Amino acid sequence: SGNSQCSSGLHIVHIAAEMAPVAKVGGLADVVAGLGKALQTKGHLVEIVLPKYDCMQLDQITNLKVLDVVIQSYFDGNLFSNNVWTGTVEGLPVYFIEPQHPSKFFWRAQYYGEHDDFKRYSYFSRAALELLYQSGKKIDIIHCHDWQTAFVLDRPDRMQDNAHGRINVAKGGIVYSNIVTTVSPTYALEVRSEGGRGLQDTLKMHSRKFVGILNGIDTGTWNPSTDRFLAVQYSATDLQGKAANKAFLRKQLGLYSEDASQPLVACITRLVPQKGLHLIRHAIYKTAELGGQFVLLGSSPVPHIQREFEGVADQFQKNNNIRLILKYDEALSHCIYAASDMFIIPSMFEPCGLTQMIAMRYGSVPIVRQTGGLCDSVFDFDDETIPVELRNGFTFARTDEQDLSSCLERAFSYYSRKPMVWKQLVQKDMQIDFSWDSPASQYENLYQSAVAQARGAAQT
Ligand code: ADP
Repeated sequence: SGNSQCSSGLHIVHIAAEMAPVAKVGGLADVVAGLGKALQTKGHLVEIVLPKYDCMQLDQITNLKVLDVVIQSYFDGNLFSNNVWTGTVEGLPVYFIEPQHPSKFFWRAQYYGEHDDFKRYSYFSRAALELLYQSGKKIDIIHCHDWQTAFVLDRPDRMQDNAHGRINVAKGGIVYSNIVTTVSPTYALEVRSEGGRGLQDTLKMHSRKFVGILNGIDTGTWNPSTDRFLAVQYSATDLQGKAANKAFLRKQLGLYSEDASQPLVACITRLVPQKGLHLIRHAIYKTAELGGQFVLLGSSPVPHIQREFEGVADQFQKNNNIRLILKYDEALSHCIYAASDMFIIPSMFEPCGLTQMIAMRYGSVPIVRQTGGLCDSVFDFDDETIPVELRNGFTFARTDEQDLSSCLERAFSYYSRKPMVWKQLVQKDMQIDFSWDSPASQYENLYQSAVAQARGAAQT
């Protein structure tokens, strides 16, 4: 990089199913907004294309208006009309596609989990491509995020899944794009073997264009010294403010304690098998056993999982030390990052994971399983094979309860026996640069090389 100023600015369009804060389910939303903003700051023209969901946070869009033009797109052999809305989200221009289709694809009061998700997003992908094509824009890079938008690249007959003889749009996306990225270097390795779930051979075959880039976090949104959701703002040099947030959250949630320094362990997550549900449960019991307090903020799209955790919540209703809040709550998530001393992420697999980075920025020390992006961002405090300056949390390897237990015990032991060491760890974690600046430069380099390649190919 370095010479990538406005003169060589690219026109980059992100097509995605989510974008924070208008349409957020998980990390994808943060990535689209965070990477988009960072690329814009670097002098590129960045635009986003999203579905127009009925359940979007409309108050997060400025100048929302419907365009005069109607875009026609094909679906199942028929042409349908789409209204196109524009607006600005976090300073980025966004197009929202509203299909005029009897199935009311994005009028479902939820983002995903519909029986026809495959149809909904194949429709969206095609309409998004038509929008770009019919607008006559000169676009350098189309960045498609996740399977929902992989349809942009391909025809169904080229996407036969290796294992099931069904259509696999992720495979089609891998085969037909110029560059394939995933969200951490370790995950990029994992999916080339067992983690590939049947796509490992495809990924191996295309490994020359396959790169893992660790996500950043939006350090504007996630900034304890300016965060308006917090009772008190604070920074690494003023941890009194962090203590105030802890006291405030305890009061708010009825987590009574005689001891201000009683450790508070947190977990903020979608409750799905990927996240290590049995270990999340175990962490709750183990924390209680070690004399700590625990707060879980999470919700599940799977009814029986939601019910299971409601059962656990009921069990602890009268307990002063454990609270499970089983819903999605953006404001509360900020307060929990700020209030907690430790943050637990026992995922079975984790492409990148954002919560460990957010937690560190708020001075909550991560306790994570060594998988995917967690391996690239959390380094064990006691691991002598790792340079001291990189050690920032606690990690464990196995998926059984025992490994998590001993990891929690180590963290608790430092917390209670070596408060000064702990304080330095907290301050160090808060100062790590998790911004999008460096990852965005890496994407920028990939984009530039793809454009150079395409130009080269066009000349021959
Ligand atoms: P994933 O994308 O698999 O959900 P990530 O760690 O990449 O996991 O991103 C999770 C994001 O969603 C974080 O910003 C986290 O704070 C947020 N989040 C998850 N669950 C909740 C919840 N119940 N309430 C508020 N925010 C949540």
